Amino acid sequence: MTRRILIAGNWKMNLNLASALELVAGLQKEAAGVSSVDIAVCPPSLYVQPVAAALKGSNIGVGAQNAYFEKDGAYTGELSMAMLCDVGCQYVILGHSERRNIMGESSEMVNLKTHAVLAAGLIPIVCVGELLKEREAGQTENVVRRQFDGSFSGISADDMKKCVIAYEPVWAIGTGRVATPDQAEEVHLAIRKMIEKNYSKEVAEAVRIQYGGSVNDKNAQEILAKPNVDGALVGGASLKVEPFMGIIRSA
Ligand code: PEP
Repeated sequence: MTRRILIAGNWKMNLNLASALELVAGLQKEAAGVSSVDIAVCPPSLYVQPVAAALKGSNIGVGAQNAYFEKDGAYTGELSMAMLCDVGCQYVILGHSERRNIMGESSEMVNLKTHAVLAAGLIPIVCVGELLKEREAGQTENVVRRQFDGSFSGISADDMKKCVIAYEPVWAIGTGRVATPDQAEEVHLAIRKMIEKNYSKEVAEAVRIQYGGSVNDKNAQEILAKPNVDGALVGGASLKVEPFMGIIRSA
């Protein structure tokens, strides 16, 4: 089974409309010939529509950084999956550590959203990862297993195959402190075994597991060379054309 590498940029709460459109114009030009790697950018919700419109027909997909699980109704400030589909969105990042740790998002909430994303025909990128104190206490696998079991509860085997998991050790996000390729591979392999245990070897082999945490154009190649690393979720280095393209080229 060959899994296609997915390089996705998580812009977080950065850029403005003009700089977002400038960035995607640059990426579109530079990535025009890339066919062996899936590429996506995840702008702030407000810019999903103009970015998706600018990238229409290109080889760069668009994702949201969050959305709500209900179809419609009195949920002030939220966006539905159908609204994202409507404007050309293809991916939704779920359970990013900033949402889990700053907004208090639980795995139960991530699970409701994972079901809703899949029901809408979108691809969830579900983030899991341990805090530094949890790694130091030898709890990495337990933490990731709890997040995995909680986030994917009740997801069918067919749907699981469509999911992307991003392993993002929290201590490596935005800190410049990247996990070593061996540290990443160890957890990616553990996650693949969790999928095999809950589903089957076939499902485990199909699911893409990205690494995220201070990935840049200098360290990407070594991390992406690991057999269970199927791409990268990139924060800071996705905000400029050159470093992001460097990561894509490394893949
Ligand atoms: C992220 O936000 O998902 C991330 C990995 O950020 P950074 O690449 O900046 O560490």
